[in-house]
Amino acid sequence: MIYNFNAGPSILPREVFQQASAAVLNFNDTGLSILELGHRTPEFTAVMEEARGLVKELMLLDDEHEVLFLHGGASTQFMQVPMNLLDGKESASYTDTDVWGHKAIAEAKLFGKVEVVCSSREKNYCYIPKDFAVPNDSKYLHITTNNTIYGTQWQAIPHTSNSLVADMSSDIFSRVLDFNKFDLIYAGAQKNMGPAGVNLVVVNKNVLGKVKRAIPTIMDYRNHVKEKSMLNTPPVFAVYVCMLTLRWLKALGGIPAIEKLNVAKARLLYNEIDRNSLFVGTVEVEDRSLMNVCFVMHDPSLEPAFMQYAKSLGIVGIAGHRTTGGFRASIYNAMPASSVQVLVGAMQKFEEMN
Ligand SMILES: *Cc1c(COP(=O)(O)O)cnc(C)c1O
Repeated sequence: MIYNFNAGPSILPREVFQQASAAVLNFNDTGLSILELGHRTPEFTAVMEEARGLVKELMLLDDEHEVLFLHGGASTQFMQVPMNLLDGKESASYTDTDVWGHKAIAEAKLFGKVEVVCSSREKNYCYIPKDFAVPNDSKYLHITTNNTIYGTQWQAIPHTSNSLVADMSSDIFSRVLDFNKFDLIYAGAQKNMGPAGVNLVVVNKNVLGKVKRAIPTIMDYRNHVKEKSMLNTPPVFAVYVCMLTLRWLKALGGIPAIEKLNVAKARLLYNEIDRNSLFVGTVEVEDRSLMNVCFVMHDPSLEPAFMQYAKSLGIVGIAGHRTTGGFRASIYNAMPASSVQVLVGAMQKFEEMN
């Protein structure tokens, strides 16, 4: 048995892998592989529509919000968002709470002015800043809801009258939020939703069409909205697997149900980190992420031995990001509590052995 704690691409539900593999050989008894099915066929159109419908249903979106599945990763959205929402002379506010937000800032600067309203960069992104002001004339405020690399998470949506834009790549569908409060949400699929290669974009259609620049056809959200996310060939397989994962989530009871499980899983692991004399968490307790749990050892010289021990038990993917070291256990939606328990057991056993 392998316990996969990878940060992304990451674990998906076992049954999704089984259904996706079956569809590669014979999709819905068509005798065709999902990989060779035309994207304009009624069969694939139904997949796209079900996927978009499930997003609306699970996130309780109102009719102003449109759901798109677009090519690329979240990094594509770093530039597509300001290209569509920000004119050259206008400014947007960004929060610098992680490496990804930092990269989003650099891209936005190509399209307009950027106000960095807060930053925890000098403290190695170990907390979420609480006191900051957003200028009234900022076109939007951009946040990264979960800090995948350092393991912090906005516990609540910041209070602001500004339009809100969020990168939710690593905590999409993991907890209940008022998603209608956001004018734009984007997420690369490969952390909590599906395979790499597709982005989920949720956009309030009222914020589109306000910038003066010419936008390349494929970059303009309005064209994708008009064509129901079928402007060109979508990443069909990736969309299909997302749809299967969303079906799985719905059957489980939707976002409120998965949030309960995620809270329980995170508590299990953080409690052990806090109890165990060998390990220590790396971020402010109040800002701890439900998805990416980062920790180190009091004695760093023991880290390779723990890594080796964990590996011998089938635990993979717990190495910290190449920029942070230590450990990071990603416990996304598809990770069962029983797997987290295996990691906790390994930490306890290792404490006895040392
Ligand atoms: C992984 C990640 C990204 C980058 O996604 P790509 O698909 O590699 O472009 C951006 N933002 C967050 C929060 C992430 O976790």
